[in-house]
Amino acid sequence: MKIADICRTKQTLSFEIFPPKKDSDLQSIDKTLEILSDLKPDFISVTFGAGGGSNRNRTIELAKQIKNDYKIEPVVHLTSIHYTKAEIDRFASVMREEGIENVLALRGDRTDLIPEKDDFRHASDLVSYLREKYDFCILGACYPECHPESDSRISDIAALKKKVDAGAEVLLSQMFFDNEMFYDFVERTRIADIDVPVIPGIMPVTKAAQIRKMVSICHASFPRRFEKIIERYGDDSDALFDAGMSYALSQIIDLLSSDVSGIHLYTMNNPVIAGRICEGIKNIACVRA
Ligand code: FAD
Repeated sequence: MKIADICRTKQTLSFEIFPPKKDSDLQSIDKTLEILSDLKPDFISVTFGAGGGSNRNRTIELAKQIKNDYKIEPVVHLTSIHYTKAEIDRFASVMREEGIENVLALRGDRTDLIPEKDDFRHASDLVSYLREKYDFCILGACYPECHPESDSRISDIAALKKKVDAGAEVLLSQMFFDNEMFYDFVERTRIADIDVPVIPGIMPVTKAAQIRKMVSICHASFPRRFEKIIERYGDDSDALFDAGMSYALSQIIDLLSSDVSGIHLYTMNNPVIAGRICEGIKNIACVRA
């Protein structure tokens, strides 16, 4: 089923996972998927070489497993900056053969490990290409606090508008820790006539090292309430886990009650995190439906 169609009927709940880096981790991803699928998400998205990683060949394989073994709708992240049109066609034909209907079309993280090609400069180029040749439901990424490479919020929204006009039907957001940033962003998208569902991405923070890495990658700002948690519990992993989960839950409940299109949870392949969040919202519509 296409994610855009699901979005028309309910607030969605979705999880993001990444393919295992080593063969020896394949069994643990099975366990993760078993638990995640019990939580009945509307879809599970699978990253594609995020952060410059080299585990690209496992993405479609894992998406296939999610669809066939767990009967959950997968979304394949597909990056384009490192590929030619012919290479994208190869990925797309495999997805089509496997009955995969949803693609998150991305430019991709830059990495020195793979040379860049000239066919796709921006995600919107991939979106137009896929829209013209294939029948996927195309999702796009968006950045409530502005993409780090953008000169301004205005140019960032203008680029997003191009992506949506090219055919992106649903937007998945970068993680953020201050809901006001998200509400302000959605308002700016509406002013720019971007009228597709914008699903907020939430990452429950449970480890101090993870926070430092995230700040360097996504430039998310931390509200004082969040900083206090890190200052107080950063060196106590159990306490930080509890505090990070409670913080994420309070963000999610505020978002859901403000009528957002859904919640996309960055699970970091940790089903305990997803389980605890779902337990905390089990009587709230997107989980109950
Ligand atoms: P774009 O939309 O192309 O934007 C990149 C920059 O170019 C922005 O500054 C934008 O404003 C500008 N821009 C875009 N279009 C135009 C235009 N037409 N003219 C001028 N400027 C333009 N990375 C991975 O490698 N693998 C993953 O699996 C992955 N999953 C992700 C999932 C989500 C939900 C998100 C939010 C990000 C993900 N990323 C992933 C990271 C993403 O690939 C990087 O943030 C990358 O830097 C930009 O990708 P994009 O598709 O958003 O690019």
